[in-house]
Amino acid sequence: MKKIMFDLKCIFLFSAMASVAACSSVPKKQTEEWPVRIIDAHTHTGFDGLPERSSGIIYSKAEYFNELDASHVVGAVVMGGREGSADEPTDHHVVHCAGVGIPVDYKRVRTGLKSKKYSCIKIYLGYVHAYPSDKAYQPLYKMAEEFDVPVVFHTGDTYSIKGKLKYSDPLTVDEVAVDYPKVTFVIAHVGNPWIQSAAEVAYKNPNVYLDGSALLIGKLSDYSKEDLEKYVIEPLHWVLGYVESSKKLMFGTDWPLVNMHDYISVFKKAIPYEQWDQVFYKNARRVFKMNELPE
Ligand SMILES: [Zn+2]
Repeated sequence: MKKIMFDLKCIFLFSAMASVAACSSVPKKQTEEWPVRIIDAHTHTGFDGLPERSSGIIYSKAEYFNELDASHVVGAVVMGGREGSADEPTDHHVVHCAGVGIPVDYKRVRTGLKSKKYSCIKIYLGYVHAYPSDKAYQPLYKMAEEFDVPVVFHTGDTYSIKGKLKYSDPLTVDEVAVDYPKVTFVIAHVGNPWIQSAAEVAYKNPNVYLDGSALLIGKLSDYSKEDLEKYVIEPLHWVLGYVESSKKLMFGTDWPLVNMHDYISVFKKAIPYEQWDQVFYKNARRVFKMNELPE
């Protein structure tokens, strides 16, 4: 395992609103160089066996489980394809979201939630040209409440130029978070690059959480240390401070867009050591109700 020293010099504690533990209180001597327990709260499994265009990762079931094992990732959440993935792993504590587009196949979602095939619902803001408050989505929030499952929104930049960004602004999640207070919502990618809006929506609404996946994609070894700090570590550290709770942010990669091991290596630098278990494991376990995993 590649070992990256965890340098705690407080260089990222730049927000006046940050209330995370002062870095000086973090043990200097790290006995753990790797989070002991990890759940990847954002992965994809629409395996096609081909190299992914940014990361070069072979998009296969074998590679998926290789990476989970190699990085000690004990559980994962799969964002379904819009029509569901062709080949979906069900072991290794992997849970699946029902990916939905418009028109929504309500019957498929309801049947899947009932049979527990699906543990969550994924809505693709931006890729699908509709706001969270669109009437097509309203029955989904009622189902989410009925089956007590979270709703995950893609937010921020879209991986396709056909996406329309006005729909993927994380601020748009606030409206449904208020209208459906009993439903848990997840803002994927902390709304990147609108991370301030995402942080505010999560801070203000008790039922909204964030996943920090895909802040950079591709081969992280191709980025400079400065870019990793600027685009991954600093934003995550700021978000964690702004929301004033270690319970709001979940670790996630967006595999296969980025290698799990490399993303964990960078991500952990943004999180104070005492909060690793919360951010890398406990939050996803709680939000996605992965009760088969130990507390
Ligand atoms: Zn994704």
